Amino acid sequence: MSKLSSHTEVVIIGGGIAGCSIAYHLSEKNIQVTLVERKSLTCGTTWHAAGLVGQLRATKNLTKMAKYSTELYHKLNDKDDLSAGFVINGSVSIAETEGRMQEMSRGASMGRNFGLEIEEISFDEIKEKYPLLDLKNVKGGWFLPQDGQINPVDITMCLAKEAKRMGCKIIENNKVLGFEQKDSKVTKVLTELGDIACDKIVI
Ligand SMILES: Cc1cc2nc3c(=O)[nH]c(=O)nc-3n(C[C@H](O)[C@H](O)[C@H](O)COP(=O)(O)OP(=O)(O)OC[C@H]3O[C@@H](n4cnc5c(N)ncnc54)[C@H](O)[C@@H]3O)c2cc1C
Repeated sequence: MSKLSSHTEVVIIGGGIAGCSIAYHLSEKNIQVTLVERKSLTCGTTWHAAGLVGQLRATKNLTKMAKYSTELYHKLNDKDDLSAGFVINGSVSIAETEGRMQEMSRGASMGRNFGLEIEEISFDEIKEKYPLLDLKNVKGGWFLPQDGQINPVDITMCLAKEAKRMGCKIIENNKVLGFEQKDSKVTKVLTELGDIACDKIVI
């Protein structure tokens, strides 16, 4: 019971990459945060991720967010006491249909508009970068030199460590059981270890 604050500005439920990233960003803005995880940090879907960091996404906002993530991973990589382990090896995307070609071309020009590095590459260049690929049905390809790979557990733990350093409370092995509401607004988060009054929640 003693680990819990009786009141905090924001309670975040879940200590995967999303919860820990939100904890990091809110703590950076001096917002008082408590993150509650039912088991251990990263034990959910995050633990299963392959860790591919691709920036070109289906929409402008998702692409912007993914681009920002790679910049953040660079920043965390450069900190001496953290081991984000971000490796920038670039990625190749291919199109096997005309529809996918159009989608990729549109995506590429949208990405370039806000500074995403993306090059259309020849069949020879595709083969050179990925020799095992069968080019029979391939219509075109793109190379994103700043894409990469990261260990999802390591980056989540880095974000959690930095959030903690900035004052965030992280409580593991504490399942959220329910909420109390007043005027359709959550005012209290009910957990196995006790209740936390709060202004806002993130689920
Ligand atoms: C096989 C696989 C490969 C993937 N590969 C990639 C990839 O290469 N690149 C990529 O970008 N994405 C990949 N993903 C997707 C990525 O893993 C997810 O999008 C991401 O991990 C989701 O993170 P999250 O924090 O939202 O969820 P989670 O990691 O699931 O976190 C939710 C947390 O909430 C906790 N929780 C649940 N209920 C409660 C409760 N009542 N009280 C307290 N805590 C609670 C859980 O224990 C869990 O830790 C992959 C996913 C899978 C399955």
